[in-house]
Amino acid sequence: MGRILPAVVTLPSFLVDTHCHLDPQYFPGGPDEAIARAEASGVGGFVVVGVGDDLSPARAAVVLAGRNRRVGAAVGVHPHDALTWTPALHEELASLAAKPEVVAVGEIGLDYHYENAPREVQRAVFARLVELAKTLQKPIVIHTREAAADTLEVLAAEGAREVGGVIHCFSEDKAFAARALDLGFDLSFSGIVTFKNARSVQEVAAWAPLDRILVETDSPYLAPVPMRGKPCEPAYVVHTARRVADLRGTTLEALAVATTANAERCFRMAFSA
Ligand SMILES: [Zn+2]
Ligand SMILES: [Zn+2]
Repeated sequence: MGRILPAVVTLPSFLVDTHCHLDPQYFPGGPDEAIARAEASGVGGFVVVGVGDDLSPARAAVVLAGRNRRVGAAVGVHPHDALTWTPALHEELASLAAKPEVVAVGEIGLDYHYENAPREVQRAVFARLVELAKTLQKPIVIHTREAAADTLEVLAAEGAREVGGVIHCFSEDKAFAARALDLGFDLSFSGIVTFKNARSVQEVAAWAPLDRILVETDSPYLAPVPMRGKPCEPAYVVHTARRVADLRGTTLEALAVATTANAERCFRMAFSA
C-alpha cells in the first residue's frame, strides 16, 4: 500500500510584505507563526519594521532578520515617537542601522494627524534620520499622514533622492505620487487600496509605473478586504496584491513577479536567495 504524499505546492513566484510590525504585543505567539502562515499563502519575503517608544522593537527586528534569510529589518524613529529622540538613542540606532540585516532606515516621516510630537520636533528628527540613511547609503521608509507638503519638502531639502526608498502605506493622491516618484521613492500599497472609499489611492495603484510599486500589510493594522476587522498579518498581503492586480488589469502572478523584483531592487536584498 503506497503512502499518500501531501500535495506539494510550488509557487512560481511569491509576494514580499514590504512593511509589517511583528512585535510581541501584536503577535503573542512570536513572529515565526505569522511568518509561517504567510509562507503557506505564497508570501516569501518580509521587511519587518522595528519602531516604538524605545529601541527594543528595533533590536528585535534586527535579531529576527539575523536568523531568517527571508526577513530584512527596517529601524528608525516613528514620527509618533519623535520626542524620544536623544543623541544617545541616535547613536545606538545608527549602530543597529549599520548592520547588514537592516535593509532600510524607517519608518520615519511626519504625522500631523495624531501629532504626538510637535511638528517642528518631527521635522528635525525626520531630517536627522534622512541624514543617517544617506551616511549608511540605505533606502528610507517614509510614513506620512496629513503632512504631504512638508514630507516632500524635507525629502527634497535633505537630498533624500541620493538613497531613495518607499512611501509606505500610500494614502495620498496622484500629484503627491508623481513628486515622490521624481524624488526616487517607490509607492507601497497596503490594505487601504482594497477599501471601497479609497478612490484616489486606487487611481494611483492603477496608474503608477509597474516597476515602482510594492505591496505591504502594515500588520497588525489595516487588514484588507475581506479580512477587515481582524488583526492584520503578513499572509493577508495576497488580498492587497490581488486588488492592485485587478485595478491594473493584470494577474496576481504578474503583479507578484513585478513587485517582488521591485522590493529586491529597492531594499537591495534577495528574499528568494
Ligand atoms: Zn506608518
Ligand atoms: Zn508601520
